[in-house]
This record gives sequence, C-alpha cells and structure tokens, in this order.
Amino acid sequence: MTTEYLSHVNQILEEIQSAGLWKTERSMLSAQAGSVTVTDDESAHKEIINLCANNYLGLANNPRLIESAKQAMDSHGYGMASVRFICGTQDLHRQLETAIAEFLGKDDSILFAACFDANGGVFEPLLTAEDAIVSDSLNHASIIDGIRLCKAKRYRYKNSDMQDLETQLKAARDDGARFIMIATDGVFSMDGYLANLKDVTTLATQYNAMVMVDDCHSTGFMGPEGRGTAAHLGVEDKVDIITGTLGKALGGAIGGFISGAQPVIDLLRQRARPYLFSNSLPPAVVAAGIEALHLVKNGDHLREQLFDNARFWRDGLTHTGFELLPGEHPIIPVMLGDAKLAQSISRHLYDQGVYASGFFYPVVPQGAARIRTQMSAAHSREDLERALEAFEKAGKLSGALA
Ligand SMILES: *Cc1c(COP(=O)(O)O)cnc(C)c1O
Repeated sequence: MTTEYLSHVNQILEEIQSAGLWKTERSMLSAQAGSVTVTDDESAHKEIINLCANNYLGLANNPRLIESAKQAMDSHGYGMASVRFICGTQDLHRQLETAIAEFLGKDDSILFAACFDANGGVFEPLLTAEDAIVSDSLNHASIIDGIRLCKAKRYRYKNSDMQDLETQLKAARDDGARFIMIATDGVFSMDGYLANLKDVTTLATQYNAMVMVDDCHSTGFMGPEGRGTAAHLGVEDKVDIITGTLGKALGGAIGGFISGAQPVIDLLRQRARPYLFSNSLPPAVVAAGIEALHLVKNGDHLREQLFDNARFWRDGLTHTGFELLPGEHPIIPVMLGDAKLAQSISRHLYDQGVYASGFFYPVVPQGAARIRTQMSAAHSREDLERALEAFEKAGKLSGALA
C-alpha cells in the first residue's frame, strides 16, 4: 500500500477523532447480562451495570437457550459449511422458519445470517424499475442499503410524517408506479419511537401500497405475546412483510428473517442474494432460536418486568433532571446535544459502574448527541437504583446537571 494512501486514511481518522466522533470498543469478560464484567484501566476486573444491550428480555444468557444450543451441537454438529440451497438446510432450519411465521401470523419465513442481510436482500427480488419504494427517512442503514440495491424508484418521507408519506405515495402513483411498497422500522432505534403503523397502513390501503416493517427492536416484547409493533397497535393483518432479528430480544445471538405470504418467501428463497450467496446459520443458533420463541410466547412475566423497569427508569431519570425523549419503549434516550458531553458523561458513568454508551453523528443528527439507555428484564430494581445515582453524579461532574 502506498504511503500517500495510508496518510490519506490517517487524515480521515484524525478528523473523526478531533470531531469527538471516535467509537471505542470495551471488551467484556463475562456473558451478556444485566451486569457484566470488564477490565478497567488498571486491568483489574470490574462489575458494571449494563444499560446498552438489546437484551430486552434478558435471554442472552438464558440457561434453556444455552442447553438447547449444546444439544443441537451434539445432534446436528457445529457448522453447515454450505449455503441453504446446496446442502445447508437441516430440519432445524425449517422448524425455526415455520415457528417464526406462525408466531407472526404469516404463511412462511426465510432465515438470513443477520437482519442486515434480510433487509439488504428483501427489495431487489420483489420490485423492479416499474415499481416504487416509499421509505421513512430514519430507517435503519440496512433498509437504506437494501433499497439502493433495488431498481425500484425511491421516495423518502420525513420521519413518521404522515402528510409527507401521503405526498410521496401520490408522487409514486402520479409517476405511474406499478407496485408500491412502504418500508419502515417498527421502532426507530435512536429515539425509541414507534412507527405510526395505524396511519401508515391506512394510507397504504388508500394508495394500494404494500407495507414492509423492520421490527428488530420490537419482536419478542412489544404487543401481545411479543408479536411486535403492528400487533401492539392492532394492525397486524395489514402489514405484508416483517423483517426481524434473532440478535436482540430473541436470545441475542445472530440471525435475521423475513416473514410474509408464501409466494413472496418462495421468490426470496430463489432470488435473495444474501440468502443464496452466504452461509447457513449454525444448528446451535437455530435450535436456541426455536427455544427462544417458546420462551417469548410464554414470557408475559419477562415483558412485565421489562416495562416495569422502563417506567421506573423513566420516572427516576426525569426526577434527576435529565431531558428524555417521551415514550413507552425500553429504549430511553437521555438527550445531551453535544457529542463530547455525551462521551464525558458516558466516561463518568463508567467510573461509577454503569455502562451506557454515547450516540452521536453520524448515527444521530449533528447536535442531537445522547446517551441511549436500554432497559432489560435482567435488571433488578437495585441495579436501576444504583444506576440512577450514577447518572446523577455523572451529570454533575460533567456539568450537564446543576
Ligand atoms: C439491529 C437492527 C438491524 C440489524 O439486525 P442484525 O440482525 O444485527 O443484522 C436491522 N434493522 C434494525 C431496525 C435494527 O435495529
């Protein structure tokens, strides 16, 4: 590699650093849980309360999931060494696909290595240049990439702005679109806001459009039985395609899926590129995914604990004087504005034994830096009380609180 090129790259790195946008990774020594063990700067072990995992139901370290993963390794081996259609499909894969479809009330579903791949692969086989995709401006990066890979005409509406959605749907109709698909996150992960799926689906009906919802931050805990945002808002039967992940509430390992009508899933199995050209999920992950769905369906107690924690945490933080975004979702962002302030608070929190990371540009708009806290059923009341004290101290030390 030439020195010119490397110094070009180094310059970009310096720009990221001096803008206060540098992301670091902290190594944990323990399993993912409500509290985790890390090594601090003196390389001593330290236990900290984890407020930034997508481990909503606390299943990431669940003994029953671990046991089913172990059993599947004994019965079905470690890896598949194949894509699905060559020789990478076991009975377990079809069982999980069927179980997900049944859970979400769809005909069938199809597994991917991650939801990033599901979203990357869902549009291109289903829509062509004659069609249109109307996409929320705050959609996840993987939806944006998936839309880029598809030849359909693109229309973007302002986040959850139903007037703008209608304007874009009209524009797509006026431009002569054959089929129109609205694409939206079920929950916008930086804000914890739910998509307005009632109005989205009403407009979809009015303009004869299909609806695709990415429910990664919802599957397993929002709505009855944790069936997701549409179920929570009572419009389950009006959403055509649901994509989701095994990497968050459903055990947190890895894997994505698309659920929908049989012909749609059949076509994706023939044509979706991340499905055709990427390895099959390992049996341990698939078997634990099946078990995770069992736990989720019978997991009212976990959901109660989760939302109880979310209410307690919102009330506590508001009382302390921090500015939160309103809502009901267990994603609870503490708004700080400045990226460096968010990082400073995150560091102080860490010193106080609380793990909560700062989010700043480019994952949120400039000037809208925040610490995104996420509740889990794995947090005890005592964890949250300690975390509240830490937030108060960190807020004062960093100057965010008077
Ligand atoms: C996490 C997430 C993804 C990516 O899921 P993976 O399975 O981790 O690839 C996609 N969309 C949304 C909205 C997400 O939150």
